[in-house]
Amino acid sequence: MKLVKLIANLGYGSRKDVSSMFREGRITDPSGEVLYADDKVGHYAIRIDGEPLDPPAGLTLMLHKPTGYTCSTKDPGRVIYDLLPPRFRLRSPILSSVGRLDRETSGMLLMTDDGALLHRIVSPKARLAKVYETTLAQDLRGDEGALFASGTLVLESEDTPLAPAQLQVNDPRHAALTLTEGRYHQVRRMFAATGNHVEALHRSRIGGLALDDLPAGQWRLLDEGDIARLF
Ligand code: URA
Repeated sequence: MKLVKLIANLGYGSRKDVSSMFREGRITDPSGEVLYADDKVGHYAIRIDGEPLDPPAGLTLMLHKPTGYTCSTKDPGRVIYDLLPPRFRLRSPILSSVGRLDRETSGMLLMTDDGALLHRIVSPKARLAKVYETTLAQDLRGDEGALFASGTLVLESEDTPLAPAQLQVNDPRHAALTLTEGRYHQVRRMFAATGNHVEALHRSRIGGLALDDLPAGQWRLLDEGDIARLF
């Protein structure tokens, strides 16, 4: 494959745009030596305007999704892709979110172009623990932990009970809920089933990987160690 095709596939621009970037000398090797559109892939470590090229395949990142953004490409409002370099939306294969968070939920969202990894993470068989920090409108009653852990709770308009989930109460209005499945609006519906209302929801962890101090709206690439920590 020629470099121009690789770089266009990574979303840096159309083939025409990328050809211009080559002509302008913006595409170089690490020593600053200019590369050419027709050069073959595999021989060079590529820099664009001095920055390393995005990983050609297997790009996986963690985004700290702020509230107010949807996990969609089409929503007319603010979308998670607005928080990433525009080329990430144009890559082929596309960078998709691993599951979704509601517009008003903040926290850890994984995104990847690796379909096999995406399926491994969302597969019900993986039973990856996801931790949600909740702020509640009313004080906890006290029996929610036992109910959620029982594996008997059936949500409205469903007929199969939820898998057992763990509730860690921090104070009467704040608790962390650990789920191993991901049904539609699950956390909000679980608390609604107890007569409460979730005022704020934040996902802080998936498997062994924590959001840590990544600021809201920021993202970072995951390396192999991070991905191993998920499982
Ligand atoms: N549960 C919800 O209700 N919303 C989310 O965004 C994630 C889990």
